[in-house]
Amino acid sequence: MAADHSNSSTEQSKLSALKMRLPLIGLTGGIGSGKTAVSNLLAQFGAGIIDTDLIAHQITAPNGKAIPRIQEYFGAEFIDAKGALDRTKMRSLVFQNPEAKKALEDITHPLIRQETIKQAYRLADADFPYLVFVVPLLIESGGWNEQIDHLVVVDCPEDLQIQRVMQRSNLSRDEAEAILKTQTSRQTRLAAANTIIENQGKLTELNGPVELLHQKILGIQKARLSSS
Ligand code: ATP
Repeated sequence: MAADHSNSSTEQSKLSALKMRLPLIGLTGGIGSGKTAVSNLLAQFGAGIIDTDLIAHQITAPNGKAIPRIQEYFGAEFIDAKGALDRTKMRSLVFQNPEAKKALEDITHPLIRQETIKQAYRLADADFPYLVFVVPLLIESGGWNEQIDHLVVVDCPEDLQIQRVMQRSNLSRDEAEAILKTQTSRQTRLAAANTIIENQGKLTELNGPVELLHQKILGIQKARLSSS
């Protein structure tokens, strides 16, 4: 399921209020680029992480907030025996049916936005120094630019993305390539970035660049405080 989560005007104003309090960081990258690897490291350095993909999964898990509406619109055959969204079935439907894709997004996106804001305020109140919004389709969804102070793009060559996705999700090359094709180009993403984290070596090679990023973000807050 796609997770773009553009912001409605209500959410935008809530995020603008939060942005006055602490730095808001967007973190994106193509499928399999390493967003989770980078956000896990940032969490270790003390960042508050809001993972919109995780939220998308939670609301479509058993008893998830989106389940009753999905069942009502698409029918019980899209809900599995445990009460969760049948992802495989839904994926194949929305891949070939743009109307179904839009209907699913109309159900899920508002719920994802509400939960994103809720988590962001909770983390801000818990005194995290800055917040990182992990949004796979941040560039595609629009509306995020004004909401964040800094955009981090995790990047690696497309062939490496394909290999990782094939291995992790047990997909064929064609299936992995088809998903990549639905996402914005690598060039577009890189052009929008304030910081690019390259992830084409070993996972441990991320430590240094991510620590530098963490220091840079702390610097954003220091500069704000000293100018206020
Ligand atoms: P998605 O958009 O699909 O959720 P992602 O951008 O969050 O992916 P990760 O989940 O961090 O990416 O990584 C995708 C897969 O590639 C995982 O199985 C992860 O363990 C592996 N991986 C990521 N970076 C590296 C690396 N530098 N070396 C080896 N494996 C890696």
